[in-house]
Amino acid sequence: MDAISREREVCAANYAPLPIMLSHGEGVWLTDTSGVKRLDMMSGYSAVSLGHGHPRILKVLNEQARKLAVTSRAFHSEPLGPFLAKLCAIAGQEMALPMNTGAEAVETAIKAARRWGYRVKGIAPGKAEIIVAAGNFHGRTTTIVGFSSDESYRDGFGPFTPGFVSVPFGDAAALEAAITPHTAAILIEPIQGEAGIVMPPAGYLTRLRELCDERNVLLILDEIQSGLGRTGRWFAHQHEGVRPDGLIVGKALGGGVYPVSAFLASRAVMGLFEPGSHGSTFGGNALAAAIGLEALTVIEEERLVQRSAEHGAHMKQRLAAMTQGIARDVRGAGLWIGVDIDPEAGSAKTIVKALAGAGVLTKETHDTVIRFAPPLTISRQELDWGLDRCEAVFGSLARHTGAAAA
Ligand code: PLP
Repeated sequence: MDAISREREVCAANYAPLPIMLSHGEGVWLTDTSGVKRLDMMSGYSAVSLGHGHPRILKVLNEQARKLAVTSRAFHSEPLGPFLAKLCAIAGQEMALPMNTGAEAVETAIKAARRWGYRVKGIAPGKAEIIVAAGNFHGRTTTIVGFSSDESYRDGFGPFTPGFVSVPFGDAAALEAAITPHTAAILIEPIQGEAGIVMPPAGYLTRLRELCDERNVLLILDEIQSGLGRTGRWFAHQHEGVRPDGLIVGKALGGGVYPVSAFLASRAVMGLFEPGSHGSTFGGNALAAAIGLEALTVIEEERLVQRSAEHGAHMKQRLAAMTQGIARDVRGAGLWIGVDIDPEAGSAKTIVKALAGAGVLTKETHDTVIRFAPPLTISRQELDWGLDRCEAVFGSLARHTGAAAA
């Protein structure tokens, strides 16, 4: 039995991977078991922003794993303070609660918002509401999928947690109308990643900030995918200069090798957690903290945020030029671009397969959007190599589409 069949036999089919068996990752390159090397332009949904096997991350991983890894937070460990201090300083927040996966950090934010709603805002017990946006993706727990607008994420998993109100993304007036005296927080992605890199209209976050100030509501931003340099700023909300009351980070924080996430907020909000109110056996362990600290230091010292902005502008411009007549929209910021394919030209999934055949690994999201999100460490030469391959695939598609139309 081949390795793919073996995996299929024993692994739940909750993903539909391309039939490529990867064995090796180095920098921006992924090699399969038959030795074929391809450019990684999806970076594990942004978890691999530092590239595969970054030498500095591997060094810290090895050194810290040998020294001390998991103790649970029943004890203190040396790397945690320096890690969270740096994370808070970069994010402009006062305190952080470390977790592992993104969904756990989102759950932490929900708990913080509800506690704040009851204990600070004075919402009646059991009545707290959190406003979310249609098209959101915040993870896969039953609470989180309960407020997803994607039926395939919810089907068969109810009953769901009450207390969430969904409004159209990008519509500040709809959001304003949904605020009630029971509203504890707005929980939103500044750019919706899984929805297809959907950008809100300019001024949207600024207006949400104003509304939250006027109506005494917490603004909580999920930057698990958009944060840590992905959009050409440390955080996507900085494009509008707003400051959230709570910030959720994950993915790239683990340096591409380990799950590390956190919820960040003010001392006043974080002070609502006392011992026993929340926890995670692995959250904030010494190994995670050492890796998180090194990931932040690498992003800073290798100027990955600036590189994302510079290379991202180039990538967007080239993708827009090469998909004229095929794409309905090319959008995004930094090294995070969604190409929204005109369904007449083909399905995103078929094109993703063709791109993989040409040496470029990407990922479709929903039926029409191809997401390009290479590691932020990519060089201009590597990027252009990948874009040249994309150009060839899109070029042949345009010829076919043109021929069909003629
Ligand atoms: N929030 C956002 C914005 C995400 O993009 C994701 C994952 O794609 C999550 C939360 C969930 O993170 P995880 O898969 O680590 O639980």
